[in-house]
This record gives sequence, structure tokens and C-alpha cells, in this order.
Amino acid sequence: MSTSLIDLDRAHLVHPVASYRTHEQLGVRVIASASGATVTDSTGHQLVDGFAGLWCVNAGYGHESIVEAAAKQLRTLPYATGYFGLGSEPAIELAAELAKRAPGDLNHVYFTLGGSDAVDSTIRFIRYYWNMRGKAAKDQFISLEQGYHGSSTIGAGLTALPAFHAGFSVPYAWQHKIPSHNVYRNPVGSDPAAVIAASVAQLRQKVAELGGPERVAAFYAEPIQGSGGVLVPPTGWMKAMRDVCRELDILFVADEVITGFGRTGPLFACSEDDVVPDFLTVAKGLTSGYVPMGAVFMSEHVYQTLADGAGSSAVGHGYTYSAHPVSAAVGLEVLRLYEGGLLENGRKAGARLMEGLNSLKNHPLVGDVRGRGMLAAIELVVDKEKKTPFPAAAQPSRRIFDRAWNNGLVIRAFADGVLGYAPPLCCTDSDIDAIIQRTKLTLDQTL
Ligand code: PLP
Repeated sequence: MSTSLIDLDRAHLVHPVASYRTHEQLGVRVIASASGATVTDSTGHQLVDGFAGLWCVNAGYGHESIVEAAAKQLRTLPYATGYFGLGSEPAIELAAELAKRAPGDLNHVYFTLGGSDAVDSTIRFIRYYWNMRGKAAKDQFISLEQGYHGSSTIGAGLTALPAFHAGFSVPYAWQHKIPSHNVYRNPVGSDPAAVIAASVAQLRQKVAELGGPERVAAFYAEPIQGSGGVLVPPTGWMKAMRDVCRELDILFVADEVITGFGRTGPLFACSEDDVVPDFLTVAKGLTSGYVPMGAVFMSEHVYQTLADGAGSSAVGHGYTYSAHPVSAAVGLEVLRLYEGGLLENGRKAGARLMEGLNSLKNHPLVGDVRGRGMLAAIELVVDKEKKTPFPAAAQPSRRIFDRAWNNGLVIRAFADGVLGYAPPLCCTDSDIDAIIQRTKLTLDQTL
């Protein structure tokens, strides 16, 4: 790679969620091109992208039909605002197509630029909702430890990962956490019923601590905790939490920014969980990462409350790029691809991925294998019996990332020894087999 590009990056490009100093030392790796599930760096090194960029390129790279959809829209109408009662064809069509497929009565769609502002928007809408219902005291929010809900100023408060808070000093006194369901490391053990009962009790207890349901606005959960280490709750967990929220009149927000659009099998993971939330947030797979876009789905009662409450006044929430027509055109094409075989392929590839990862269970370093569909993780431990976490000192995660990279595989190496997988849904059998074989090689080199 040209040294000047590394130097220019070092000098000018501030990277997201990075140790700036470490990055300066190590230098950037430039991804130059990609096709299907394969990315090529600027030295010509080819790798299977086992993480679909950042769990987002669900359709895989190089789909001409997506490029065409964007180009056509750019030529026809590159921009239209949704303000002043205006709109664009693709945005309206995409909202309608999504509403048709969303669980239950999530009939209303507000488009954002990504996941963080989708979560942020729900907080604004929820405050508005309770004010319109004359329950302004319901202003406390609850989410899960190890949860990730983005890094916007307000929404980051729902995110429980320490790096997103250390040093930022933003007060989040109104945002609260309860423990994760983490089945591998739960103090109540791994029995599904016990894990669910513990979470239900913790939610009820937190609500009581906060002064009862009349103080609590909403509870947020990912159907599978992604950035917290791909933590898969027991079957029935989402439903049990949803039922508590309904009973206590607390809004339930399902954050499907990662799990949406085929990542776990169906278009929405909530459908598999038999859950209809009050709000559902998506991004990433919505446009397969080709262009930025996120969305907030609102259930019928939420939308009607906002609309009635505002009456002839404006609900003052929106962006210049809300419902961007180019992103919407891409979203429509990506949706067509999902239903034209990608979801089906993802389901098959997901079964192969899980089978392959499970075959590594006997490896001396592997403590846990977990996942659903094309979303998976293995957790490395020093001692399987004691589940001693893989040491986080001296950046082992970066070393594992490096080893995998050199072996032709992109994975996410979390700091605590968890390796994350979220390959494109277009993966062939040989892509999946390469992911498994290169993972095994990487683990052997890590022993
Ligand atoms: N919510 C969840 C569950 C996520 O995983 C993410 C990002 O990974 C976000 C929100 C934030 O999305 P974005 O990075 O598009 O702002």
C-alpha cells in the first residue's frame, strides 16, 4: 500500500471507536474493493469478510442491481425533503413495503440516517408520547448491561459498554441498566427458565426502585445482544420481557439494528420471538450498508397518540436527510433481493456456519459457541472448567484479529476474547467453510 495513504490517514482521518494513539502506531489497512463475501485490501490480499463490514453488508458486495437503483435515483431525483408536506416516491414505497412486512401493527415508519439516530429518535418520541398521554412523570429508561444502542449523545446512555462512557461525562441519571441474560455467565446458571425468571424479576425490581411503573417510560432490548458479545437469550426471553412491559404500561423497544433483515433468519428477529414491540429500530441491513439509512417503526397506538397529541402543531423532530430518496431506492432494491433468495441462502449458510463453529467446541481455547442464523460468536477462555476469560492484556484481541486477517479472514475480535461472526447472507458453502477453517488455524496459532 502506498505509504502516503497511511501517513495521510494518520495525519487527518479520525476513526470511529478507536484508540487514536494505537491506530497511529499500527497504521490503517485500506480495503480497496470487494465482491460477494470477499474483500481485497490495497496490497491485493483477499479475505472472506466474516463480519459483513460492521454487521451490515447483508446482501454482500458488488450487487449491480443495487448500484443501478442508486444511480437511477440519483439521476431522477437525488434529494427531496419530507418537510413542508413533501415527499418522494421511493421513501413512500419503502415505508409501505416495510410496514407490510413488519410484525403486528408496526405500521408507521420514520426514516433516519443510521442506528444511533434511530434509537435517539425513539427517546424523543417516547418522551413526547408520555407527555401527550398526560404522564410526564414516566421519564426513566431501562436497558440491559452489555447492551449497545449507538453512540449519539442521548442514546449512548442506553448503551452499557464502558468505552462509550469513560471520559465523556454526560449525565444519564434517567437511564438505568439491569443485568444481561448472558446464558454462559449468568449467576443463576444456564437453565432457560431460570435465566428468564431472573431477568423478569430484575426488571420488576428496577421498576420498583425507580418509584413504580408511573416513573418508567420504556425498556430497550436487542433480540440478540450484538456488540456486547453476541449474547443470545433463551427462547421466550423477549416475550417474557415484553409481557412484563405490557402489564406495567411500559413501552417496549426492540433494537433490531443488527438482527433485522435476515441476520438471524427472518426479516425481523422479533417475528421469531413472537413479539410485537411498541417501537422497532433498524439500520445496517436496511440498505445492506451501501448507503446510510435507519428507521423507527411505530405501532399504531404510538403513532395515533403522537398524532392526536400534536393536533395541528408540528411534532418537532426531523433531519434534512430523513427519508433520503437515494437510500430509500437502495432499500427497495435490497428488500427485493432479500426476498428473491438472499434470506433463503442466509438461512442455509447460517446453519452451516453454526455447525462449523460448533465443531470447534472441543478446541482447548473455546469456552462457548453461540448464535442464531448468520450471527454468531465463540468465546475464548483460558480454563474451560472455570470459564476464566481470555486475558485482555496486551491487546490479544487485536493480535487475534491480525492473525485471522493474515489467514484471509475478517472477524470481530472483542476485547474480552469473544470472536464475532456476521457474514454476508450471500455466502457460498465454500465461503463458510473458509471461515471455519481459517478460524481453526487462527485458534491453533493462538494456543
Ligand atoms: N443499535 C444497535 C443494536 C447496534 O448494534 C448499533 C450499531 O452497531 C446501533 C444501534 C447504532 O447504529 P449506527 O452505528 O448505525 O449508528
